[in-house]
Amino acid sequence: MKELVERIKEDGRVLGEGVLKVDSFVTHQVDPVLMEQMGQRFAEVFKDQGITKVVTIEASGIAPALYAAKELGVPMIFARKAKSLTMDEELLTASVYSFTKQVTSTISISRKFLSENDKVLIIDDFLANGQAAKGLIELCQQAGAEVEGIGIVIEKSFQDGRELLEQMGLRVVSLARIASLSNGQVEFLEEDA
Ligand code: 5GP
Repeated sequence: MKELVERIKEDGRVLGEGVLKVDSFVTHQVDPVLMEQMGQRFAEVFKDQGITKVVTIEASGIAPALYAAKELGVPMIFARKAKSLTMDEELLTASVYSFTKQVTSTISISRKFLSENDKVLIIDDFLANGQAAKGLIELCQQAGAEVEGIGIVIEKSFQDGRELLEQMGLRVVSLARIASLSNGQVEFLEEDA
């Protein structure tokens, strides 16, 4: 997506260890205009899949997922990383190793929000090694829900996430695909959604 690629070129900052910082428009301060455009793009791509729920993981997946859900006219559910005292119902849970925080956490969604009748679009801000998406897929599987596709804002194509998800037979659509973050430079793959 041209607008996103331009914004990454302008405001993205490469940290060591293959990490891209986009905290001025995605992961901390959020640009609602760009987020809405991204949500619309995801909705356009997946509009014929019969999506009934958009599922993401807190915190940075919430903004793009919410706009996609609004556009598709369905609810958005975000998996929680810490158990809340108010989550007293049956939970779907999975373990996720965080690429940026380097810790394993348990993510969860209340069982009542996902069922075998759901067709799910999973959305996240970044795709690195695919562990967050895999955890969300596991939650959907526990509920018997069908995952119809994965929408990613920024894919780091030099990591293994896409391959892992495609091996599971899933369609992955990324709005920006990064080929390399070497030498402090962001290089993009030509094709993106
Ligand atoms: P994965 O689970 O695919 O290995 O990593 C994806 C998760 O790690 C995303 O939810 C995101 O929060 C975080 N992440 C991975 N790579 C980056 C990155 O380069 N920059 C930022 N800001 N977050 C990242």
